[in-house]
Amino acid sequence: GMDIGGIDVGMLLGYPGTISALMQRAGRAGRRERDSLIILLAGEDALDQYFMRHPEELFLRPSEAAIVDGTNPDISKAHLVCAAAEIPLAEKEPYLNQDCKKQIDSLIAEKKLIPGAGGRRWFPNVPRPHRLINIRSVGSTYSIHDERNGRQVGDIGESRLWSECHPQAIYLHHGRQYQVKSIDDAAKAVYVQPAPVDFYTQALGEKETEILHRLREFDLGCGKAVEGELKVTERVTGFQKRRLFSGQLISTHNLDGPPQILVTRGFWIEMDDGLQDLVETEKFHYMGSLHASEHALISIFPLEVMCDRSDVGGISFTHHSQVGGAAIFVYDSYPGGLGITRRAYERLPSLIGRTLSLINECPCEDGCPSCVHSPRCGAGNRPLDKGGALFILKKLSQIREVIATEPQGDNVEKPRAPLRKTRREKRVAIQRSLPSELEGKRILAFDLETQRSADEVGGWGNVHLMGLSLGVVQDLSNGEFRTYREENVEELIEELFSADLVVGFNCVRFDFGVLSGYTGRDFSRIPVVDLLVLVHQASGLRCSLDALAEANLNQGKSGTGLDALRFYNEGRWDELEKYCRRDVEITADIFYIILHEKRLNAPMRDAQMESIRVELQLDELISAN
Ligand SMILES: [Zn+2]
Ligand SMILES: [Zn+2]
Repeated sequence: GMDIGGIDVGMLLGYPGTISALMQRAGRAGRRERDSLIILLAGEDALDQYFMRHPEELFLRPSEAAIVDGTNPDISKAHLVCAAAEIPLAEKEPYLNQDCKKQIDSLIAEKKLIPGAGGRRWFPNVPRPHRLINIRSVGSTYSIHDERNGRQVGDIGESRLWSECHPQAIYLHHGRQYQVKSIDDAAKAVYVQPAPVDFYTQALGEKETEILHRLREFDLGCGKAVEGELKVTERVTGFQKRRLFSGQLISTHNLDGPPQILVTRGFWIEMDDGLQDLVETEKFHYMGSLHASEHALISIFPLEVMCDRSDVGGISFTHHSQVGGAAIFVYDSYPGGLGITRRAYERLPSLIGRTLSLINECPCEDGCPSCVHSPRCGAGNRPLDKGGALFILKKLSQIREVIATEPQGDNVEKPRAPLRKTRREKRVAIQRSLPSELEGKRILAFDLETQRSADEVGGWGNVHLMGLSLGVVQDLSNGEFRTYREENVEELIEELFSADLVVGFNCVRFDFGVLSGYTGRDFSRIPVVDLLVLVHQASGLRCSLDALAEANLNQGKSGTGLDALRFYNEGRWDELEKYCRRDVEITADIFYIILHEKRLNAPMRDAQMESIRVELQLDELISAN
């Protein structure tokens, strides 16, 4: 809210939690296009350290997706009363769906709405109902007051009351410390006193969770991810005083908090039965491994969804009675849920990959606040097993089948039914040689893989943000392969611009689009044969490289774009290179077939195979250079 002119340098103490907040704060300096400098000093928090190891992400990541869950009755009921105060609700309003109608009935029962005479309109029963709504939280809240003068210093959602404002807790507000003196449940008020102390408090407690409803699920490498409705019962049983900055334990105290019940949305990972044996054979602590995985996974959440780590809760079990085995639960810390874990569930494979690299790259030996420790752990960060968490996350990321994420790079239609092989040209062998008019020319077959999925950068319109993980070029004049990683992206771009012809699949839109994130050069100047475009022009069909390979080379691709993302996230460079190189070979072979036979087998929409005529005007293509 400040506008101070003439700031040249800004210094941020710690990552502010979201890219949006980072950019907003950085924007305080360098107004009116003046040069400015922003310095980010990382804290020990997991996200801070993640960005220190992946600084490019600070610049390439788009703003987090902000989420609103309008189907949460706690949210929409409050909105309905406010809407009625602006203009009475009318039955014909298009936004009043079945859920809203039910909520109107319950609002009438709660005496918050009153029906009009005809029963088709509803009026608010409270003047200016928006005054009663806390814009910072969902559900009922407690106000926090200074005991000495009654002045309100803040408020807190009921679901977080006992974990953050239990008696004797140190409550931080605008950088000031207060100690909680008493809680008045009838008045929904907490009384505090200023307390300049050199310690902070951390609540300890026990949690249980009951699965109320399973919504959807998919398989992971050593278990299953399930999304659904949960009932979480939490009881604060004590707290610890810890020294500021060092976190050193000073003392532990008992408390007898009331059970807090939260019905919310979340997801959980049900582990395969055999996993415990595998983990223990490796001499890891099973509970410690699950618990550490849970902490690290939650610490990565803000990378995918606009939220604070404290907006989600987690619980791990070596045995959960409803699951019948081990499970890690992660849920929205607000009644009814906000959609945070729903979004995270949809990005779980990529979240697991990032969590894996977070732990893997942390230089500590046994776990630290930058990887598996959580400042909010109700179990005092015990037990935790960093090595075991790595082991489990690696197993989980060996994805058997993913239904939640769209395979990347394959946003083209695939034939719907298995192909009936009709009118298929017989092919003996591929003639891998260039015709005389291409002799002595630099002809390159080319493909690249990316660091991020289209989903992660906000859709296929943002391919320039996806980032090169690895690119492979085959020089068809001598058959040599060259591989480029991001640090050599300039050389890759130079090589493409110096070629007489570049052959790719969907390279004009996709591969060149990705590379345009690194340079201002005009890729339309590169003479190119884009097989996707070529086949489309010849047959009206947009098919995948996979389908073309199957139709013409009797082989499919070795995996999906998702495998490539996983290889990258896990640093499995050899497998990534093999994968990318195979696509380059397929691309080159299809090109050779077109050169020598001027025909291709095309998998048509009606599951028929058709031989289509594909001709290249080579002299025109090349003289364009
Ligand atoms: Zn660490
Ligand atoms: Zn914990």
